[in-house]
Amino acid sequence: MTSVCPHCGWPDEQPFAVLSQHRTGTGLTVWSRCACGSTQIRETGVAGTRIISRGRPTQAPQNPPCAA
Ligand SMILES: [Zn+2]
Repeated sequence: MTSVCPHCGWPDEQPFAVLSQHRTGTGLTVWSRCACGSTQIRETGVAGTRIISRGRPTQAPQNPPCAA
């Protein structure tokens, strides 16, 4: 994976902060927060890792709704 954050250019393959991880039927879903504050949801499976959702930069980071 060679993509970078469109907001700040942080490399997606190096999560700035991992918020939570959840095992799914197909692999692992990881919530992470970028250096700019945007929340990302990435999914790791047999095909590799991909970003499935990406939020906007924010001053007050939101917690994932399913955080423990
Ligand atoms: Zn960013």
